[in-house]
Amino acid sequence: MSNIKDKIVIITGVSSGIGEATAKELASKGAKLVLAARREDRLIKLQQEIQNTGGLALYIVTDVSSHEQMEELADFALKEFGKIDVMINNAGVMPLSTVYEKKMNEWDTMIDVNIKGVLYGIAAVLPSMRERKEGHIINVSSVAGHLVFPTSSVYSGTKFAVLAITEGLRQEECNNNIRTTIICPGSVDTELTDHISDANLKHSIKKQSEIAIHPNSIARAIAFAIEQPSDVAINELIIRPTIQQL
Ligand code: NDP
Repeated sequence: MSNIKDKIVIITGVSSGIGEATAKELASKGAKLVLAARREDRLIKLQQEIQNTGGLALYIVTDVSSHEQMEELADFALKEFGKIDVMINNAGVMPLSTVYEKKMNEWDTMIDVNIKGVLYGIAAVLPSMRERKEGHIINVSSVAGHLVFPTSSVYSGTKFAVLAITEGLRQEECNNNIRTTIICPGSVDTELTDHISDANLKHSIKKQSEIAIHPNSIARAIAFAIEQPSDVAINELIIRPTIQQL
């Protein structure tokens, strides 16, 4: 029997891209999902799609940069299902720019969503996981969590931070039987590049993204990490398009 069936899984950033693909993949393997993102119309549509194929998903509109809303998300999952088996901190933004341009609002958003959102997600689920001495926290970093390129200074900074936070969490919580997984995608065909504010840069990044793989490839990797027996932790996976060089 699948080790995913009946697991209670929270996923943030499910309204598009990797989160949406992961929700569908896990629902098809019998997970019971709590869907979180800000765009309610997308959440409703995804919930219906999952239900139409025999899956089970609830949703709650959530901004991951709000500590209170992340606590409400975990409380909602506990109230509805009684436990949280897996937390997938997937929500992220990538408005690339050079440091010189001083796009401080964009820096703040990246730090709030990509770092604080992950921390708030961890903080919200850790107490109940510790109590049960069981749980799995999956944080989505990036290949940009391993390398930097011009315009990725701040984005890479946030994704390096996800690596450090997750490795620290692993060491702190392994004796509580809590697994951690870092997912590092390469180029994936999603809406991520839509929010780059410089039109020329957006065009050139979109051009580079022509090699991008389908988000289902990342969803399968996440499912692989979850379906391992509980004494096996897949701590990190890097998934690139075969032809991606860096
Ligand atoms: P998308 O832009 O398609 O999805 C991003 C998701 O994050 C959306 O569902 C969006 O939902 C959600 N989100 C953004 N801000 C917030 C917020 N404040 N609160 C809650 N949800 C939020 O991109 P991807 O699917 O590609 O991104 C998923 C993750 O994968 C990100 O962490 C990204 O950094 C990472 N990644 C992606 C790569 C790629 O090439 N695509 C490569 C490496 C890593 P909504 O706007 O409705 O809130």
